[in-house]
Amino acid sequence: MITSKYTFLTNKYSSGDTIIVNYLSGSIDLVEKDDADELKSRFQSKNWDGYKYSDYFLDRGYVFDSEEDELEKIREKYLEFSQEYEKTPTQLIFSTSFICNFACKYCFQEEYQNSKKVIDNEITDAFFSYVNKRFGNESVKPYITIFGGEPLLGGESYKKSILYFLQKSVEFKYPIAIVTNGYELINYIPEFQKLGVDIKEIQVTVDGDREHHNSRRITKTGTPSFDRIMDGIDDALRAGYRINIRSIVDKENINSLPGLAQYVKDRGFLDYPKTKFESTLGRNYELHTCQKTDKLYDRYNMWTEFFELAKEFPVLKEYHQPQFHGMRYLSENGDLPFPIFDGCPAGKKEWAFDIHGYVYGCTASVGVEKFRLGSYINPDEPVNEEQIREWSTRDVLTIPECSKCPVSLSCGGGCGVLAYNEHGKIHSPNCRPVADLVGIGVDYYGIGEE
Ligand code: SF4
Ligand code: SF4
Repeated sequence: MITSKYTFLTNKYSSGDTIIVNYLSGSIDLVEKDDADELKSRFQSKNWDGYKYSDYFLDRGYVFDSEEDELEKIREKYLEFSQEYEKTPTQLIFSTSFICNFACKYCFQEEYQNSKKVIDNEITDAFFSYVNKRFGNESVKPYITIFGGEPLLGGESYKKSILYFLQKSVEFKYPIAIVTNGYELINYIPEFQKLGVDIKEIQVTVDGDREHHNSRRITKTGTPSFDRIMDGIDDALRAGYRINIRSIVDKENINSLPGLAQYVKDRGFLDYPKTKFESTLGRNYELHTCQKTDKLYDRYNMWTEFFELAKEFPVLKEYHQPQFHGMRYLSENGDLPFPIFDGCPAGKKEWAFDIHGYVYGCTASVGVEKFRLGSYINPDEPVNEEQIREWSTRDVLTIPECSKCPVSLSCGGGCGVLAYNEHGKIHSPNCRPVADLVGIGVDYYGIGEE
């Protein structure tokens, strides 16, 4: 018998109890205290001879009879993953400008702010002509995400241009997602309705309760934005649009999340179904220039802090349900999620387009010259076939480090741009503390508790 290369042990966050997991086989078990020492020693020595749970372990896929058996399983799951992946819609991200009406302290786009070019009808026509040709025949209709800078700016001439873009999306039947700071949302909702834009989601950044949000997300003229954003969200929900409130969390604002959660609850947003209202917590990660790193959390510390806060303020649990690498899915569905052979859609299921006519693999690489893949405006611009090939072949079986990594089928290899920034190549890892987060998630969702 051999140990599956995807089996790993971790510990429940609060009690330290042992947990055994395998994402290839979709198995997870809490190990009885009395059995933990023997399991750990067998796991280390890879010797399963005479083990009292060997039949159970074979059945659960923690061990296999042979390497060939495991390879067979990997092939089967990879094929299923690829088939499912094919069915997911491609996301086409269009940056309408690098201009923003906010002056957030931590904005990674500050380095692009000298570009004053904004969307016009000519660019819109070029964009739709390109995407119709290149993506129009995909079996699942792609959707377009507009972002900036800020995609919902207030000026009349800008507004005309973005509405022309949205009108084209209606004409060519592309659903629209919007990543916005939310300041002008309230003024745009009637326009979306008038045009009949098929809105998939509106993601609005709100960085904590009123006080914290207003201390970091102010307009260029210094006006606080919290109340106006919340009115816009309210209108959007009433109009039937799906809202995702995203908070950028760091050490300065994490303690204000319960205040935000309470506000959102009191305002009735939590009464909408999950299909209409979601929340996301993110870190301002190390993509470009950003705030001082001593204010930033690493993933593990952010989630342990969140866990502790949620114990103290249960409203946080109502507001946000973290994925914790499949633990939310397990608590909701009774199974682990399907293995993820690739967590980075860049250059496969995601493409990004800037205002200057260039094409990139995703949002994280937009505007960065070394990640330019071609042009949607200028047919003479060279297409970077080699880099496109690198993006399209990046997955946990092709990144050498990931191909040996037991948690790879939940990590997915991380972000390709961050991996490049760290290691100088796209086919390199961007690691996540999967095992530790599983340990927190088991606790958070009370998995295995009566
Ligand atoms: S490179 Fe990073 S940001 Fe871009 S699609 Fe991949 S994971 Fe997402
Ligand atoms: S990026 Fe790191 S943690 Fe993720 S699969 Fe690869 S080696 Fe494992």
